Amino acid sequence: MPLLMIPGPIEVSPAVVDAASGPPPGHLAPSLIESFGASLELMRRVWLAPSDAQPFIVAGSGTLAMEMAATNLLDPGESVLVVSSGYFSDRMAEMLRRRGAKVTVLRAEPGDAPSLDAVEEALSSGGYRALFATHVDTSTGVRVDARALAQMARAHDVLSVFDGVCATAAERFEMEAWGADVYLTASQKAIGLPPGLALLVASRRALEARAKLSSPPPLSIDFEQWTPIMRAYEERRPSYFATPATTLVRALEVSLREILEDGMEARFALHARVAKAMRAAWSALELRELPVRPELAAHTLSALYLPEGVGPELVASVAERGVVVAGGLHPALRTRYFRVGHMGHVLTQPDALRTTVRAIAEALSQHGHVCDAVAAVAALDRALGE
Ligand code: PMP
Repeated sequence: MPLLMIPGPIEVSPAVVDAASGPPPGHLAPSLIESFGASLELMRRVWLAPSDAQPFIVAGSGTLAMEMAATNLLDPGESVLVVSSGYFSDRMAEMLRRRGAKVTVLRAEPGDAPSLDAVEEALSSGGYRALFATHVDTSTGVRVDARALAQMARAHDVLSVFDGVCATAAERFEMEAWGADVYLTASQKAIGLPPGLALLVASRRALEARAKLSSPPPLSIDFEQWTPIMRAYEERRPSYFATPATTLVRALEVSLREILEDGMEARFALHARVAKAMRAAWSALELRELPVRPELAAHTLSALYLPEGVGPELVASVAERGVVVAGGLHPALRTRYFRVGHMGHVLTQPDALRTTVRAIAEALSQHGHVCDAVAAVAALDRALGE
């Protein structure tokens, strides 16, 4: 199998592979009820969420988790602010428009994020029900200042929602301390599972917002349909609304326990350290990043401009060397850059990181960007050792 170094799905641990294999458990099996209940409890710890926040585990992808957030918090006609850092924020804005919200989008050039001053100014103008932001935009590798955004929203009594699909369990996010209302993700990125689970934690305020709606969300993604099911599982009681992805829930418990083994601080630090090391390698290869300032560069992926004279076919040449990286995604720049994921299990496998750097360096040389693979791997190793 090639080494999967795209920004999701990612390489998963051997224990997760085991848990995600074999005959599926029934949704009422005692072992599944135990895994489900434990996973809900563990999610609060990974999300650093308060005890009265409600985790949801629903079969689906990250887009479904986004739709849950877009439809459970506000009625048609209410105003929302989208702090857009790229492709996935724009998807969220479109979902909110379809919900009938009045959507204001604050935009930035690709590789940048709207300034906090601009957000503060917009919030001060008043009238917003909720602020939506993408914690890490997978199309550009830009990470927004989620702490500042959540705290600003709180200060203005505005709900805050963060798409953590390319961030949760890798980038620091303190749901309770920062007062965020929804933090959502999917199973196939830093959570470390195959695709197939939409994962979301909602604050008490978010649940109250749903309770007050006059126009309910679609039944299959309604907080009020799912909350009693989640509570039953957490109390280790059988229940049913719509069949859960039982095999993945079994694997979720395993992966959340792995994430929490060394604690969240260690987890955030590992992602920061490896991101720095990968960037040392990119710098040795004279590759320029999309994020326009270092503090915007995510720890979960690198988005790198193709050097002069090298086209998007680089991705296929890297694949020929056994490593899968991703092409560009942002519509404005699609053919001008490529992306490398660095999250989860692979971070504990320095050989895989070396293989990735070497494959990219060799493919670049093949396409005329002559560079030194040995020096790039040495730069990686040096930074990993620091
Ligand atoms: N948000 C972000 C930031 C993402 O990276 C993705 C997927 N790459 C999504 C949302 C959508 O998730 P999914 O593809 O699982 O529906």
